[in-house]
Amino acid sequence: MDMAKLYFRYGAMGSSKTANAIMVQYNYHERGQNALMLKPRLDSRDGERIVGSRSGLSAPCVYVEELDGIDLSPYNCVIVDEAQFLTKAQVAKLVEIVDERNIPVICYGLRADFQGNLFEGSTWLMAWADTIEEIKTVCWCGRKATCNARVVDGVVAREGEQIVLGGNESYVALCRRHWAKGELAPMEVKKISTGKRAHLPLLLEADPSEAMIDRYLDESDMYVLAAHGKPVSVAVIGEPEPGTFELYNLATDANERGKGYASELLRHLIRMYKPLGEKLQVGTSARRMGFYEQLGFRQVGVRKDFFLNENYIPAKLAEQGLRDMEVLELEL
Ligand SMILES: [Zn+2]
Repeated sequence: MDMAKLYFRYGAMGSSKTANAIMVQYNYHERGQNALMLKPRLDSRDGERIVGSRSGLSAPCVYVEELDGIDLSPYNCVIVDEAQFLTKAQVAKLVEIVDERNIPVICYGLRADFQGNLFEGSTWLMAWADTIEEIKTVCWCGRKATCNARVVDGVVAREGEQIVLGGNESYVALCRRHWAKGELAPMEVKKISTGKRAHLPLLLEADPSEAMIDRYLDESDMYVLAAHGKPVSVAVIGEPEPGTFELYNLATDANERGKGYASELLRHLIRMYKPLGEKLQVGTSARRMGFYEQLGFRQVGVRKDFFLNENYIPAKLAEQGLRDMEVLELEL
């Protein structure tokens, strides 16, 4: 009989560790075998028993803390997500499952925290795993990303607790040089899948009606262009008819205008949507037509008095030069 092994597969933020974990479990199921998905419980609250990845894949799991009550006999493999948060005792327990029960245990996790220190789980996995494998991802500069930066208000944080629950910070994988300097991407476009409404103040700059924004926000795709970690431009695109996309919103932070961010974001999206459909439409004010025409849009119609309805505050409309909606179109 083959000897089971303890695996530690580590990677920086965004290296698809959870997606990999879910795929491994899927592969076991495909072969008619069971793989138990685990994750450490981070606090005393009884949270969701789910592992979820940024790409939207998710799978049910149980907590590592519940291992003692689980009959492992039906399982051919144990998979652990977020393994950096394991304690030394929990890693020792996993070693026991491998050595005493001969069940392979595959752990996915980060190597080091935002300050470059090993996590407790990673420390003992590095020390005791039979096989250590790196899951690679890249920094914005193209080099391999090995470090995790904590970003708070667009700035790389240096101080703080190793684990923060429910804060407003985000994490980004950087190469060691850019992590050390705290340098985030000069310009980076990201798709926003959760927390779209956090960008509402920016969206309201281009579309002063929250009621109108509500109509398209949930079923549309949102993209944010961040400059040095700070969101500066936002775009919302929907597909009202198959093959026809509509740019519902494109807005730039009032303090960041005139730097070409909106056209950079729109150019990026035009490239991205080219293979997906025939045309991209936009309804805008006469004042903004030139901006779109520069990027290849052509006027195809006018919707007279479009903005004169109960959803809009007259003073706001006058300020933004909105009355008729100019409809422009770009062949993709
Ligand atoms: Zn870099």
